[in-house]
Amino acid sequence: MHTDFLIIGAGIIGISIAREVKTRNPDARVMVLEKESDLGMHASGRNSGVLHAGFYYSADSLKARFSRDGNRALTAYCLDNGLPINQCGKLVVAKNESEDRTLDELKHRGDVNGVELNMISAEEAREIEPRVKTFRRALFSPTTASVDPMAVMRSFAEKTRSLGVSIECGVSYRGRGPGDTVHTTKGKISAAYVINAAGLYADKIAKDYGFATGYSILPFKGLYLYSNEKPGSAGGIRTNIYPVPDLKHPFLGVHFTVAVDGKVKIGPTAIPALWREQYDGLSGFTATELLEIGVRQMSLLLHNQFEFAALALEEFRKYSRRHMVAQASLLADGVKPVDYAKWGRPGIRAQLVDLEKKKLEMDFVLQGDDKSYHVLNAVSPAFTCSIPFSKHVCDQIDNLLRKAGGQQ
Ligand SMILES: Cc1cc2nc3c(=O)[nH]c(=O)nc-3n(C[C@H](O)[C@H](O)[C@H](O)COP(=O)(O)OP(=O)(O)OC[C@H]3O[C@@H](n4cnc5c(N)ncnc54)[C@H](O)[C@@H]3O)c2cc1C
Repeated sequence: MHTDFLIIGAGIIGISIAREVKTRNPDARVMVLEKESDLGMHASGRNSGVLHAGFYYSADSLKARFSRDGNRALTAYCLDNGLPINQCGKLVVAKNESEDRTLDELKHRGDVNGVELNMISAEEAREIEPRVKTFRRALFSPTTASVDPMAVMRSFAEKTRSLGVSIECGVSYRGRGPGDTVHTTKGKISAAYVINAAGLYADKIAKDYGFATGYSILPFKGLYLYSNEKPGSAGGIRTNIYPVPDLKHPFLGVHFTVAVDGKVKIGPTAIPALWREQYDGLSGFTATELLEIGVRQMSLLLHNQFEFAALALEEFRKYSRRHMVAQASLLADGVKPVDYAKWGRPGIRAQLVDLEKKKLEMDFVLQGDDKSYHVLNAVSPAFTCSIPFSKHVCDQIDNLLRKAGGQQ
């Protein structure tokens, strides 16, 4: 079997790229391989569903630009296509003087990036969300919204298929063969160009093509607790509430998310996972991964880079429901463990580590040449970013192919 473009992984990133590739190359054969029997089994179907506005990230980052543009593009997409969206905004709240100062930094980042943000008093914050707790001031982001990630995934997949892209579920990439050959669980494919968007396994596949050297993916597990309160009930939380994040880490801290249907959840955690797909019990267990990831974590603990020991300890405590609820109760009044009794479907972040510098990569990492392209570190908010992200990837690939064509 021959294809012009082979995309590995049908998460939001793989599907968005496939759609963009086919739009730019209508006569090309474009195929997507997905190892699972259905879409959305990993991060793209297990996230918070928040369309981030783009004020957490420094202005020179891909995350800043793609979040700003992606928020606008995905909001418009949901509205135009009748997909559920809850444009409830978001409050970022401070617990003390030092966090209050970080609000200024976030506001600055938002201003530089052209994102609408309002610095408001604690009283004004309580007009937006009567239960919110904050020290002196809060930051309000009116463009933050919640969507149904699975509805977006299905809609993207349908549009991509309708262009003539084949999305093959239940077919795994197994390895690179000689020349253009790719080995899969359903036989060999000859692929003129390979795009790797394999999420938790993207580093492994990139290494087959000579990329991601010096990098490895470290999985971090995100757990959620659901509120028992009926959506939209009187006194229920009605806007997303986030703490001031530690800007040294790529995680945003336990927060309240108001989903499209008004259901409230707290989370997600960022607990170091012991293997890549460690969702529940022994699911996805492989001894090789346990060893590989265990060694990485040990090395980070020993060097205590980016305060990994403290981060890991604090995150492991969140396996306790009481502790998670206690964290959330710092952001809003009347949050009791009895109201948050049900754990939700966990998600796992495919976080890239720079092995030499022993640090977590903060931005998206993209590598490639005229034969293959590799999406590494498509961590949060890559869902929000998916539309401009895929355009950027295709621009890069077009440039690489043009340059290679010019040299021949
Ligand atoms: C807990 C959590 C909360 C998040 N919250 C948000 C949020 O609120 N807003 C936001 O914008 N982002 C959020 N994110 C981030 C967002 O979900 C991800 O950045 C995004 O889904 C990444 O998409 P992806 O396509 O790269 O990865 P994935 O969705 O993981 O897709 C990769 C696909 O590749 C497939 N694959 C892997 N190996 C192979 C192989 N060998 N052969 C074939 N297929 C393979 C996998 O099965 C998978 O389906 C969150 C993430 C997590 C984990």
